[in-house]
Amino acid sequence: MPGCLTLPMVGPLNVGRTVCWVGIAAGGRMDAMTTSTTVAAYAAPAAKAPLERTTIARRAVGTHDVLIDIHYAGICHSDIHQAREGWGEAIFPMVPGHEIAGVVAEVGPDVTRFAVGDRVGVGCMVDSCRECDNCAAGLEQYCDQGMVPTYNGLDKNGEPTYGGYSTRVVVDENYVLRVPDALSLAVAAPLLCAGITTYAPLRHWNAGPGKKVAIVGMGGLGHMAVKIAHALGAEVTVLSQSLRKQDDGLRLGAEHYRATSDPRTFEDLAGSLDLIVSTVSAPLDLNQYLSLLKTDGALVNVGAPEDPISLNLFSVIAGRKTLAGSMIGGIAETQEMLDFCVEHGLGAEIELITAAEINEAYERVLSSDVRYRFVIDTATI
Ligand SMILES: [Zn+2]
Ligand SMILES: [Zn+2]
Repeated sequence: MPGCLTLPMVGPLNVGRTVCWVGIAAGGRMDAMTTSTTVAAYAAPAAKAPLERTTIARRAVGTHDVLIDIHYAGICHSDIHQAREGWGEAIFPMVPGHEIAGVVAEVGPDVTRFAVGDRVGVGCMVDSCRECDNCAAGLEQYCDQGMVPTYNGLDKNGEPTYGGYSTRVVVDENYVLRVPDALSLAVAAPLLCAGITTYAPLRHWNAGPGKKVAIVGMGGLGHMAVKIAHALGAEVTVLSQSLRKQDDGLRLGAEHYRATSDPRTFEDLAGSLDLIVSTVSAPLDLNQYLSLLKTDGALVNVGAPEDPISLNLFSVIAGRKTLAGSMIGGIAETQEMLDFCVEHGLGAEIELITAAEINEAYERVLSSDVRYRFVIDTATI
């Protein structure tokens, strides 16, 4: 007889599991099928509304899925953009969070890459078409069909995706990363967005020995960009509004730190840089920043302002310069980034917070009052 049973809440994770019987099979065997898991989460019920504690359903663990006990989730500036609909219409309720680190709690029968107990991470995407040229090239983030974002998206069944401000998540093993033992989970979490978002363009535009690279902004993305560019061997300059974080910038690997509020910065550095990676989401005067590049230099944006910005095309015509953008990285490259960070002893600088502090943390991110990434201890959800 078909029916469902909700098992008791389990431990500190407040997990209730619904088990359904789908009927008696032809041979008289009763098949049990786990349909979904109810987990605790923090969600924005509507655009611009404060986040609050709630519960959400996670899908049944499919044949290629892993169920992850989330330990930590980073707060990315894009969580705030999306929860407040700064980037356009969004799906609510929204459970943000695409910097997820945790431990595998269960695997589907055909999972080969992970086992229960493995330390893992999930970044900004949880699926893609797997067939287009971009997917085939390891550029799943640029999938022709559109990647499935970790939250504020729809999966292949049309169900909304929910992110890492939660106690558990179910993800296809092909979109799960391995967190090396040498990296603590709390420090690893922000690498899944801030790390790969900066690593990918620095690699693509050949940051390395003999190259002068500037990082615009010393926030969550910027501080990782400084560390990674330095580890790659480049000569790193931070361009920040003020010199407030200069000591940190130099400590993290920058050789120069200049205030963009000082007009002399643009005079002194004119025509001197090979690559600029802008991590800020405030609108910049692109013409001004392009003037800092050498011939054939590139200005790459990984931060996105909410409104269009204007450009004088002579800023790129003179000097054959490139204005570009870059979005996270593919799955294989994300794993490469995690392994690179371990090899070079890199991790995010974090402030660990409880779930109850999420809304306050959002305000502090908006006022650049975080050094350098808030990470939620999901045990407090
Ligand atoms: Zn992010
Ligand atoms: Zn694809």
